[in-house]
Amino acid sequence: MTKVILLIILCTCYSFVSAQQPVFLLDGHKVKAGEKLSFNMQIRASSGDSTYIPVTVIRGSKPGPVLGILAGIHGYEYPPIIALQQLPALLDPTRISGTIVLVHIANVSAFLGRSVYYNPVDHKNLNRVFPGNKNGTITDCIAWTISHELFPRFNYFIDVHAGDANEDLHSYVGYVVHGNQTASAKEMAEAMGFDWIMRSERSIADSLPTQYATSEAVAQDIPALAIECGKMGIVTQAETEKINSGLINVMRTLRLMSGAPSPANAPIEITKRVTVNSEYTGIFYSDYKAGQLVRKGMKIGYVTDFFGKHLQDVISPVDGFVVYKVSTPPISKGELLFNLGQYPD
Ligand SMILES: [Zn+2]
Repeated sequence: MTKVILLIILCTCYSFVSAQQPVFLLDGHKVKAGEKLSFNMQIRASSGDSTYIPVTVIRGSKPGPVLGILAGIHGYEYPPIIALQQLPALLDPTRISGTIVLVHIANVSAFLGRSVYYNPVDHKNLNRVFPGNKNGTITDCIAWTISHELFPRFNYFIDVHAGDANEDLHSYVGYVVHGNQTASAKEMAEAMGFDWIMRSERSIADSLPTQYATSEAVAQDIPALAIECGKMGIVTQAETEKINSGLINVMRTLRLMSGAPSPANAPIEITKRVTVNSEYTGIFYSDYKAGQLVRKGMKIGYVTDFFGKHLQDVISPVDGFVVYKVSTPPISKGELLFNLGQYPD
Protein backbone atom coordinates (compact mmCIF):
# COMPACT_ATOMS: atom_id res chain seq x y z
CA MET A 1 0.00 0.00 0.00
CA THR A 2 2.79 2.41 0.97
CA LYS A 3 4.53 1.61 -2.33
CA VAL A 4 1.34 2.38 -4.29
CA ILE A 5 0.94 5.74 -2.53
CA LEU A 6 4.62 6.53 -3.13
CA LEU A 7 4.21 5.64 -6.81
CA ILE A 8 1.16 7.91 -7.11
CA ILE A 9 3.05 10.76 -5.45
CA LEU A 10 6.04 10.22 -7.73
CA CYS A 11 3.82 10.13 -10.84
CA THR A 12 1.99 13.28 -9.72
CA CYS A 13 5.26 15.09 -9.09
CA TYR A 14 6.68 13.93 -12.41
CA SER A 15 3.61 15.08 -14.37
CA PHE A 16 3.67 18.45 -12.53
CA VAL A 17 7.34 18.97 -13.33
CA SER A 18 7.02 17.82 -16.93
CA ALA A 19 3.90 19.96 -17.43
CA GLN A 20 5.62 23.04 -16.01
CA GLN A 21 8.97 22.47 -17.65
CA PRO A 22 8.57 21.83 -21.37
CA VAL A 23 11.58 22.62 -23.47
CA PHE A 24 11.76 26.36 -24.20
CA LEU A 25 11.74 26.68 -27.97
CA LEU A 26 13.03 29.86 -29.61
CA ASP A 27 13.97 30.29 -33.27
CA GLY A 28 14.28 26.50 -33.65
CA HIS A 29 16.61 26.18 -30.63
CA LYS A 30 15.58 23.93 -27.73
CA VAL A 31 16.64 24.96 -24.25
CA LYS A 32 16.04 22.42 -21.50
CA ALA A 33 15.46 23.14 -17.81
CA GLY A 34 18.74 24.03 -16.11
CA GLU A 35 20.45 24.99 -19.39
CA LYS A 36 22.00 28.19 -20.72
CA LEU A 37 22.18 28.47 -24.51
CA SER A 38 23.49 31.25 -26.79
CA PHE A 39 22.73 31.60 -30.50
CA ASN A 40 22.12 34.14 -33.26
CA MET A 41 18.61 34.73 -34.61
CA GLN A 42 19.01 35.29 -38.35
CA ILE A 43 17.01 38.06 -40.08
CA ARG A 44 16.74 38.65 -43.81
CA ALA A 45 14.88 41.47 -45.59
CA SER A 46 13.31 41.12 -49.03
CA SER A 47 15.91 43.68 -50.26
CA GLY A 48 18.59 41.04 -49.65
CA ASP A 49 20.02 42.81 -46.57
CA SER A 50 20.52 40.50 -43.63
CA THR A 51 21.53 40.70 -39.98
CA TYR A 52 21.28 38.67 -36.78
CA ILE A 53 20.39 39.14 -33.13
CA PRO A 54 22.66 37.46 -30.53
CA VAL A 55 20.51 35.90 -27.79
CA THR A 56 21.22 33.95 -24.58
CA VAL A 57 18.42 31.88 -23.02
CA ILE A 58 18.80 30.91 -19.36
CA ARG A 59 16.20 28.25 -18.58
CA GLY A 60 15.78 27.80 -14.84
CA SER A 61 15.50 24.38 -13.22
CA LYS A 62 12.19 25.38 -11.65
CA PRO A 63 9.00 26.73 -13.30
CA GLY A 64 8.28 30.45 -13.41
CA PRO A 65 7.73 33.43 -15.70
CA VAL A 66 9.76 34.48 -18.74
CA LEU A 67 11.64 37.79 -18.48
CA GLY A 68 13.06 39.30 -21.67
CA ILE A 69 15.90 41.85 -21.34
CA LEU A 70 17.06 43.70 -24.43
CA ALA A 71 20.04 46.00 -25.13
CA GLY A 72 21.48 47.62 -28.24
CA ILE A 73 18.36 48.99 -29.92
CA HIS A 74 20.70 51.96 -30.31
CA GLY A 75 24.13 50.67 -31.29
CA TYR A 76 26.22 53.40 -29.64
CA GLU A 77 24.62 52.90 -26.21
CA TYR A 78 27.39 50.70 -24.85
CA PRO A 79 26.89 50.44 -21.03
CA PRO A 80 23.71 48.28 -21.34
CA ILE A 81 25.34 46.09 -24.01
CA ILE A 82 28.41 45.48 -21.85
CA ALA A 83 26.22 44.92 -18.74
CA LEU A 84 24.38 42.15 -20.60
CA GLN A 85 27.73 40.62 -21.60
CA GLN A 86 28.47 40.26 -17.86
CA LEU A 87 25.00 39.15 -16.74
CA PRO A 88 24.99 35.43 -17.78
CA ALA A 89 27.93 34.71 -15.44
CA LEU A 90 25.80 36.08 -12.57
CA LEU A 91 22.83 33.81 -13.34
CA ASP A 92 22.91 30.15 -12.28
CA PRO A 93 20.08 28.23 -14.05
CA THR A 94 19.79 25.80 -11.12
CA ARG A 95 18.79 28.76 -8.90
CA ILE A 96 16.30 30.30 -11.32
CA SER A 97 12.54 29.71 -11.39
CA GLY A 98 11.46 30.55 -14.92
CA THR A 99 13.40 31.74 -17.95
CA ILE A 100 15.52 34.78 -18.75
CA VAL A 101 16.04 35.73 -22.39
CA LEU A 102 18.91 38.17 -22.94
CA VAL A 103 18.90 39.98 -26.28
CA HIS A 104 22.49 41.22 -26.30
CA ILE A 105 22.44 43.61 -29.27
CA ALA A 106 19.18 44.25 -31.12
CA ASN A 107 20.86 46.36 -33.82
CA VAL A 108 24.21 44.72 -34.64
CA SER A 109 24.74 46.85 -37.78
CA ALA A 110 24.44 50.06 -35.74
CA PHE A 111 26.78 48.65 -33.07
CA LEU A 112 29.50 47.56 -35.51
CA GLY A 113 28.98 50.72 -37.58
CA ARG A 114 29.38 52.92 -34.43
CA SER A 115 26.18 54.64 -35.48
CA VAL A 116 24.23 57.09 -33.30
CA TYR A 117 20.41 56.57 -33.25
CA TYR A 118 20.17 55.04 -36.75
CA ASN A 119 20.86 51.74 -38.49
CA PRO A 120 23.53 52.70 -41.07
CA VAL A 121 22.03 50.24 -43.59
CA ASP A 122 18.65 51.98 -44.05
CA HIS A 123 19.04 55.08 -41.81
CA LYS A 124 16.01 54.18 -39.68
CA ASN A 125 15.76 54.48 -35.88
CA LEU A 126 14.80 51.01 -34.62
CA ASN A 127 12.96 52.53 -31.65
CA ARG A 128 10.57 54.41 -33.95
CA VAL A 129 9.42 51.58 -36.23
CA PHE A 130 7.68 49.10 -33.89
CA PRO A 131 5.82 46.79 -34.38
CA GLY A 132 7.89 46.51 -37.57
CA ASN A 133 7.15 45.06 -40.97
CA LYS A 134 8.49 41.77 -42.31
CA ASN A 135 8.24 43.13 -45.87
CA GLY A 136 10.05 46.39 -45.05
CA THR A 137 13.72 47.33 -44.83
CA ILE A 138 16.14 45.57 -42.47
CA THR A 139 15.29 47.80 -39.46
CA ASP A 140 11.57 47.10 -39.98
CA CYS A 141 12.40 43.38 -40.09
CA ILE A 142 14.38 43.55 -36.80
CA ALA A 143 11.40 45.23 -35.10
CA TRP A 144 9.03 42.67 -36.62
CA THR A 145 11.17 39.79 -35.30
CA ILE A 146 11.31 41.27 -31.80
CA SER A 147 7.54 41.96 -31.82
CA HIS A 148 6.45 38.62 -33.30
CA GLU A 149 9.14 36.07 -32.36
CA LEU A 150 10.32 37.34 -28.97
CA PHE A 151 7.55 39.33 -27.28
CA PRO A 152 4.93 36.55 -27.46
CA ARG A 153 7.33 34.42 -25.36
CA PHE A 154 7.78 37.04 -22.61
CA ASN A 155 5.72 37.66 -19.46
CA TYR A 156 7.81 40.73 -18.57
CA PHE A 157 10.11 42.93 -20.65
CA ILE A 158 12.97 45.35 -19.94
CA ASP A 159 14.53 47.50 -22.67
CA VAL A 160 17.90 48.91 -21.54
CA HIS A 161 19.25 52.11 -23.10
CA ALA A 162 21.82 54.79 -22.25
CA GLY A 163 22.49 58.34 -23.33
CA ASP A 164 23.76 58.06 -26.90
CA ALA A 165 27.24 59.20 -28.05
CA ASN A 166 26.11 62.83 -28.06
CA GLU A 167 23.96 62.74 -24.91
CA ASP A 168 24.73 63.54 -21.27
CA LEU A 169 22.07 61.74 -19.21
CA HIS A 170 21.02 61.13 -15.60
CA SER A 171 20.02 57.46 -15.12
CA TYR A 172 16.34 56.65 -14.78
CA VAL A 173 13.72 53.92 -15.10
CA GLY A 174 10.58 54.54 -17.17
CA TYR A 175 7.23 52.78 -17.19
CA VAL A 176 3.90 53.40 -18.88
CA VAL A 177 0.55 53.69 -17.10
CA HIS A 178 -1.64 51.14 -18.88
CA GLY A 179 -4.59 49.37 -17.25
CA ASN A 180 -3.85 46.50 -14.93
CA GLN A 181 -0.19 46.32 -16.03
CA THR A 182 0.57 49.52 -14.17
CA ALA A 183 1.02 47.96 -10.72
CA SER A 184 3.48 45.30 -11.99
CA ALA A 185 5.44 47.83 -14.03
CA LYS A 186 5.66 50.22 -11.07
CA GLU A 187 6.84 47.41 -8.79
CA MET A 188 9.53 46.43 -11.32
CA ALA A 189 10.56 50.09 -11.73
CA GLU A 190 10.97 50.55 -7.97
CA ALA A 191 12.95 47.30 -7.72
CA MET A 192 15.63 48.69 -10.06
CA GLY A 193 16.72 50.92 -7.16
CA PHE A 194 17.37 54.02 -9.33
CA ASP A 195 16.72 57.44 -7.81
CA TRP A 196 14.55 58.71 -10.70
CA ILE A 197 11.44 56.96 -12.05
CA MET A 198 9.62 58.41 -15.07
CA ARG A 199 5.93 57.60 -15.21
CA SER A 200 4.47 58.08 -18.67
CA GLU A 201 0.80 58.48 -19.51
CA ARG A 202 1.58 57.86 -23.20
CA SER A 203 -1.54 56.47 -24.86
CA ILE A 204 -1.20 53.17 -26.66
CA ALA A 205 -4.00 52.74 -29.18
CA ASP A 206 -4.62 49.77 -31.47
CA SER A 207 -5.00 52.12 -34.42
CA LEU A 208 -1.52 53.70 -34.13
CA PRO A 209 1.95 52.20 -34.65
CA THR A 210 3.50 51.65 -31.25
CA GLN A 211 6.90 52.97 -32.48
CA TYR A 212 8.80 52.09 -29.28
CA ALA A 213 9.76 48.58 -28.13
CA THR A 214 8.30 49.13 -24.66
CA SER A 215 5.03 50.49 -26.10
CA GLU A 216 4.73 47.42 -28.33
CA ALA A 217 5.33 45.15 -25.32
CA VAL A 218 2.68 47.03 -23.33
CA ALA A 219 0.26 46.74 -26.29
CA GLN A 220 0.85 42.97 -26.12
CA ASP A 221 -0.09 43.02 -22.39
CA ILE A 222 3.49 42.58 -21.20
CA PRO A 223 4.47 44.80 -18.25
CA ALA A 224 7.57 46.65 -19.46
CA LEU A 225 10.33 48.98 -18.32
CA ALA A 226 12.62 51.28 -20.29
CA ILE A 227 15.90 51.89 -18.48
CA GLU A 228 18.44 54.60 -19.28
CA CYS A 229 21.86 54.24 -17.64
CA GLY A 230 25.21 55.52 -18.90
CA LYS A 231 26.08 58.13 -21.51
CA MET A 232 28.26 59.27 -24.39
CA GLY A 233 29.51 55.81 -25.33
CA ILE A 234 31.56 55.55 -22.12
CA VAL A 235 31.50 52.20 -20.32
CA THR A 236 32.10 52.34 -16.57
CA GLN A 237 32.02 49.48 -14.08
CA ALA A 238 29.79 51.59 -11.81
CA GLU A 239 27.12 51.80 -14.51
CA THR A 240 27.26 48.16 -15.68
CA GLU A 241 27.01 47.06 -12.03
CA LYS A 242 24.13 49.49 -11.40
CA ILE A 243 22.25 47.99 -14.39
CA ASN A 244 22.91 44.37 -13.40
CA SER A 245 22.21 44.77 -9.69
CA GLY A 246 18.93 46.49 -10.63
CA LEU A 247 18.00 43.69 -13.04
CA ILE A 248 18.75 41.05 -10.40
CA ASN A 249 16.55 42.96 -7.95
CA VAL A 250 13.75 42.85 -10.53
CA MET A 251 14.31 39.09 -10.97
CA ARG A 252 13.99 38.65 -7.19
CA THR A 253 10.84 40.78 -7.11
CA LEU A 254 9.32 38.62 -9.87
CA ARG A 255 10.39 35.48 -7.94
CA LEU A 256 12.65 34.37 -10.80
CA MET A 257 15.48 34.23 -8.25
CA SER A 258 15.47 33.49 -4.56
CA GLY A 259 16.59 36.11 -2.09
CA ALA A 260 15.07 39.35 -0.98
CA PRO A 261 15.53 42.34 -3.27
CA SER A 262 17.76 45.04 -1.79
CA PRO A 263 15.62 47.78 -0.31
CA ALA A 264 14.97 50.40 -2.99
CA ASN A 265 15.94 54.01 -2.44
CA ALA A 266 13.11 56.46 -2.05
CA PRO A 267 12.91 57.39 -5.73
CA ILE A 268 11.53 60.62 -7.13
CA GLU A 269 8.65 59.85 -9.51
CA ILE A 270 8.60 62.32 -12.39
CA THR A 271 5.46 62.62 -14.46
CA LYS A 272 6.07 65.74 -16.54
CA ARG A 273 8.91 66.35 -18.96
CA VAL A 274 9.51 69.01 -21.59
CA THR A 275 11.96 69.18 -24.47
CA VAL A 276 13.77 72.31 -25.64
CA ASN A 277 14.75 72.24 -29.31
CA SER A 278 17.16 74.30 -31.38
CA GLU A 279 15.70 77.03 -33.60
CA TYR A 280 18.85 77.06 -35.75
CA THR A 281 21.50 74.87 -37.34
CA GLY A 282 24.94 75.62 -35.93
CA ILE A 283 27.03 75.07 -32.82
CA PHE A 284 25.53 74.42 -29.38
CA TYR A 285 27.17 75.59 -26.15
CA SER A 286 26.07 74.75 -22.59
CA ASP A 287 27.88 74.23 -19.29
CA TYR A 288 24.87 72.49 -17.77
CA LYS A 289 25.11 68.79 -16.83
CA ALA A 290 22.56 65.99 -16.58
CA GLY A 291 20.98 65.94 -13.13
CA GLN A 292 21.53 69.69 -12.58
CA LEU A 293 18.70 71.85 -11.29
CA VAL A 294 17.28 74.58 -13.54
CA ARG A 295 14.88 77.46 -12.94
CA LYS A 296 12.19 78.78 -15.28
CA GLY A 297 13.60 81.66 -17.36
CA MET A 298 17.25 80.71 -16.74
CA LYS A 299 19.69 80.78 -19.67
CA ILE A 300 21.00 77.20 -19.95
CA GLY A 301 22.88 77.40 -23.26
CA TYR A 302 23.15 79.17 -26.59
CA VAL A 303 23.57 78.46 -30.30
CA THR A 304 25.86 80.21 -32.79
CA ASP A 305 26.37 79.95 -36.53
CA PHE A 306 29.62 78.59 -37.98
CA PHE A 307 31.24 82.04 -37.85
CA GLY A 308 30.60 82.45 -34.12
CA LYS A 309 27.60 84.79 -34.51
CA HIS A 310 25.09 84.38 -31.67
CA LEU A 311 21.75 82.99 -32.90
CA GLN A 312 19.74 81.81 -29.88
CA ASP A 313 19.77 81.87 -26.11
CA VAL A 314 18.41 78.59 -24.76
CA ILE A 315 16.01 79.34 -21.89
CA SER A 316 14.52 76.82 -19.44
CA PRO A 317 10.70 76.89 -19.69
CA VAL A 318 10.28 75.15 -16.28
CA ASP A 319 11.58 74.71 -12.75
CA GLY A 320 13.12 71.27 -12.75
CA PHE A 321 16.27 69.36 -13.68
CA VAL A 322 18.20 68.17 -16.71
CA VAL A 323 17.23 64.57 -17.55
CA TYR A 324 19.41 64.53 -20.67
CA LYS A 325 20.97 67.03 -23.05
CA VAL A 326 23.08 67.20 -26.16
CA SER A 327 26.66 67.24 -24.94
CA THR A 328 28.51 67.76 -28.25
CA PRO A 329 28.67 70.89 -30.51
CA PRO A 330 26.76 69.96 -33.72
CA ILE A 331 23.09 70.91 -33.80
CA SER A 332 20.49 71.09 -36.57
CA LYS A 333 17.32 73.17 -36.59
CA GLY A 334 14.51 71.37 -34.76
CA GLU A 335 16.76 68.91 -32.91
CA LEU A 336 16.48 68.38 -29.18
CA LEU A 337 18.89 70.34 -26.96
CA PHE A 338 17.47 69.50 -23.52
CA ASN A 339 14.99 67.09 -21.98
CA LEU A 340 13.90 68.57 -18.64
CA GLY A 341 11.99 66.90 -15.81
CA GLN A 342 9.59 69.04 -13.79
CA TYR A 343 9.38 68.89 -10.02
CA PRO A 344 6.57 66.64 -8.76
CA ASP A 345 3.47 68.68 -7.83
ZN1 LIG B 1 18.46 54.36 -26.86
